[in-house]
Amino acid sequence: MNFTDLSAGALAAICGVFGLCVGSFLNVAIYRLPKEGLKVWSPARSFCPGCRRQLEWSENVPVLSWVVQGGRCRGCRGRISVRYPLVELLTGATWAGLGWITPADEWPMLAVRLLVVSALTVATFVDFDCFEIPDEVSIGGMWVAPVVSLLVPELHRDSLVARWVADGGEPGRGAAVAASLAGIAVGAGVLLAIGWVGERLMGKEAMGLGDVKLLGAAGGFIGPGGALVALVLASMVGAVAGIGNIARFYCLLRSRVHARRRSTPRGKSLAIAKACGQMLPFGPYLALGTLVVLLYGKSLGSWF
Ligand SMILES: [Zn+2]
Repeated sequence: MNFTDLSAGALAAICGVFGLCVGSFLNVAIYRLPKEGLKVWSPARSFCPGCRRQLEWSENVPVLSWVVQGGRCRGCRGRISVRYPLVELLTGATWAGLGWITPADEWPMLAVRLLVVSALTVATFVDFDCFEIPDEVSIGGMWVAPVVSLLVPELHRDSLVARWVADGGEPGRGAAVAASLAGIAVGAGVLLAIGWVGERLMGKEAMGLGDVKLLGAAGGFIGPGGALVALVLASMVGAVAGIGNIARFYCLLRSRVHARRRSTPRGKSLAIAKACGQMLPFGPYLALGTLVVLLYGKSLGSWF
């Protein structure tokens, strides 16, 4: 039996199991990448951030170890964040989903999708933690994208630029690399431009350089049109999340005002809620937009 004969269910199961283990590695990357002096590959063995003790293999089993140990380190009994098993579950679920929707005979596309979704997961959680996106993901992605496009040109088969370079025919390797480079330029360029205009209008930094580099890397994989669509999606979801966050802060502030029987005016609470609630990282929404375009770019393109 060939790999390409695998049913969608079997492929999803295999991807899901590998995804759980990769999620365990992504946790390491999320923890170590933003920290000076810690490399993803060294020390090679995982350690407890609390007591610095090296972990046994039985403490490294995805999800299960956390459940068996009741969310605590075996050595120092310190709490281990529930986010570790959640990132493993999320990675297992996204990998299984990609295995389910990507036919086995399109395995090069499956490999690219698994790579991109894993990198986006790291960018998302580091950005939530530290309001920055590691260069290893963003700049690394900009280097890797044209190479991947050369190896898997079908990544850009729906791209207008690739079709234009290929004179309307099926895009070859050259056309795919051209689409990838154009995607990097447009993705990074459009956010740089928005940031420049925003800075002139508001008099403060409007766009983080991490977001610029991330959309550049994303454009390398989804092409220039895809980068623009991903940005529109990210802005829409980000705006909804921002409003939700402001509402959350406002309700929190008002409930405190009531509890302490103060007479703070509603306008002042709203101003504080706005100032706090707007502090949201943009990277996670860019990552979400990129993933949606990567999977459903063709139907989205015709819809737009
Ligand atoms: Zn410990």
